[in-house]
Amino acid sequence: MDETVQDLLVRLYTHHNLEKEQFVFILDHLDDESKKMLFELANKTRIEHYGRRVFMRGLIEFSNLCKQDCLYCGIRKSNKTVDRYRLSFADILACCEEGYNLGYRTFVLQSGEDFWFSTERMSELIRLIKKQYEDVAITLSVGERSYETYQAWYEAGASRYLLRHETASPALYAAMHPTMTFANRRACLANLKQIGYQIGAGFMVGLPEQTHEDLALDLLYIAQLQPHMIGIGPFIPHHATPLADSKGGTVDDTLVMVALARLIVPDGLLPATTAIGSLHPRGRELALQAGANVVMPNLSPIMVREKYELYENKICTGDESAACRACIEVRISAAGYTVDMQRGDSTRITPLRFF
Ligand code: SF4
Repeated sequence: MDETVQDLLVRLYTHHNLEKEQFVFILDHLDDESKKMLFELANKTRIEHYGRRVFMRGLIEFSNLCKQDCLYCGIRKSNKTVDRYRLSFADILACCEEGYNLGYRTFVLQSGEDFWFSTERMSELIRLIKKQYEDVAITLSVGERSYETYQAWYEAGASRYLLRHETASPALYAAMHPTMTFANRRACLANLKQIGYQIGAGFMVGLPEQTHEDLALDLLYIAQLQPHMIGIGPFIPHHATPLADSKGGTVDDTLVMVALARLIVPDGLLPATTAIGSLHPRGRELALQAGANVVMPNLSPIMVREKYELYENKICTGDESAACRACIEVRISAAGYTVDMQRGDSTRITPLRFF
């Protein structure tokens, strides 16, 4: 390669894309000095687009039932040790009320693939929330559904959808997802984008057998899809899954991918994930300094928090919503950023209607 890692980072900062081999070269040869430069460029890019603001999203994990069986996931259907729950509409609306009073203007409704929440039931729930809280944005994170279902939920008032692509390597995807296909995952993301959602893709770092080539594919996919949101977290093994004895991803490798994603999608909304905070006491602060600009404190009722254990030792399962908010605010300020409680839409979109 004629160019050095630092040359390539400057090129990525300027042009927002590279060839696959160039991404692999960076990942193979990144030393401490280049890493420092990468984080500085990523932070500079986020400040150019969003200033020092960090957007807060209130997360409501409303069902841990799931019909899928992803190998890495603690609530996969084959895990018979999970105490399954499904919140009622009243419970979910109570979470929204508490979140609204705490100042949240985005609710992220997340669950496993629980088809009890049919097209109609979910549409009804979205309408109820929007009727009560007109000025909030509703983000859904409930997995793969048909185009028609996504369309119905969009029309009911949901405007954002998180569906991590998990890995852009076809072989790795097939190995990790016995009940799902790589093609359908991508088709769902394309459908969501076509309908008009602000979409969130993203991937895991440190999956078993994952190579730098695989991670380069993730970066190329992000460059091609240009999602509005990109969730990147370390793979953390869960004791009740087939990957219990795997090694797991590192904080350092995850931060590198967050920073590279920031350079590829400069106006992206990138969460400092709870997973990275679970691996390192200052994981979320480090992610903010590597280009992340969103945090998602938990609004779910405390009694169900521990039951939504996608991975081991998840943090913040015992804190009241108000305490979560206060704790994260202190962390954000200490890291040199400011909390922004507004909806925090992507700067790329000019909303045609106020959802
Ligand atoms: S990762 Fe999502 S789809 Fe897969 S088993 Fe877990 S909750 Fe279900």
